[in-house]
Amino acid sequence: MSDSGESRRATPAEYVSAQPHAFGPARHLRSRAKVLPEHARGHNRALVLQTLYHAGSMSRADLSRETGLTRVTISDLVSEFIADGIVVELGVRETVGPGKPPILIDIDRLGHQIVGLDLSDAEVFRGAVLSLDGDVVERREVARPAPSDGEAAYAAVLELARALVSAATASLLGVGVGTPGVVRPDGLVLSSPNLGWTDFALEAQLGRDLELPVLARNDANAAVLAEYTFGDARSDFIFIKIGFGVGAGLISGSQPLLGSRFAAGEIGHVVVGTDGGPRCICGRDGCLEAWLSVARLRDEVAARPDEREAILRDAGARMAIAIAPIVTALDLSEVVLSGPADLLDGPLIEAATATLRDRTLEGVFDDVVIRLTRQDDIVLRGAAVMVLSGQLGVS
Ligand SMILES: [Zn+2]
Repeated sequence: MSDSGESRRATPAEYVSAQPHAFGPARHLRSRAKVLPEHARGHNRALVLQTLYHAGSMSRADLSRETGLTRVTISDLVSEFIADGIVVELGVRETVGPGKPPILIDIDRLGHQIVGLDLSDAEVFRGAVLSLDGDVVERREVARPAPSDGEAAYAAVLELARALVSAATASLLGVGVGTPGVVRPDGLVLSSPNLGWTDFALEAQLGRDLELPVLARNDANAAVLAEYTFGDARSDFIFIKIGFGVGAGLISGSQPLLGSRFAAGEIGHVVVGTDGGPRCICGRDGCLEAWLSVARLRDEVAARPDEREAILRDAGARMAIAIAPIVTALDLSEVVLSGPADLLDGPLIEAATATLRDRTLEGVFDDVVIRLTRQDDIVLRGAAVMVLSGQLGVS
């Protein structure tokens, strides 16, 4: 880097090398909507940003070629994005030969950040300032208040969010929250017993208190977005998050499944079998969550260390019994788990895979894979995807 004292823009090569594109090459979710003429402008805006986001810096001519939009349309949209501060010109591309060298443009990756919150941990609420490419820039956490105290839970969320907003070093695109519970698409938490929230307008309340765009979704639904967009998952899979509770998110045909009550994937309180089982927080015996939650597995293993393998195999088998009908009904290709690797990787996944084979049609579902996600901070990254998607139409 030159040190002339005069501020200068990074060359495109420097800029690109400073951007690891941790999220790329990434995929976007398939849109179900048909594009009507009145939607075309919004569609074109999203297409241009999506292309820039995933492909990185390029000229207006490249963008026109990549998107199939005319040079005039591209030129208009790019001017608008530059005026809005979403897109920046990076300088000219080095070229040989005659003609004016083209100016490279990109999403202003350095000029924007996102705050992500993950409320799913048993001990703490976690949060981070993330770059647009999904890298964690700053982390903060606050102690999780006593269960079922809704007011204390929100106060802790607000404290964490404010600390992160102050820690941001660029303009914030928005705040994404992944929370346990059933969450409506407008960010109203219909029910989250562990946090003590019922019909709580989390997204609206936090948006007012922070004066920023906020998006709140179920934690597993946030995580499934990150796994789909940045992980190696296929287009049809279930993502099971094993932590304080057990929840799942589903992608079918490259689209997130929410269901009629926005509760798709709420498999934690499905009773597994008719032979009872451990007592669940909900009062029944043998719920999947009662078998599989991290606290239960750790307690059991600590109480009977000699039977560690049997305890984990049993939990894996119970999980497979619960998910076999889901895998077959939706013809899924993968089951991706997130949770502590020391508990999940090994006997638990082995037993789950064997049980799934035993309980599904031979020759059809034999290649269904059960594996751990390779991503860290998956809810935080998922929260970032929500904001990118909600604010820029990029996913
Ligand atoms: Zn239960």
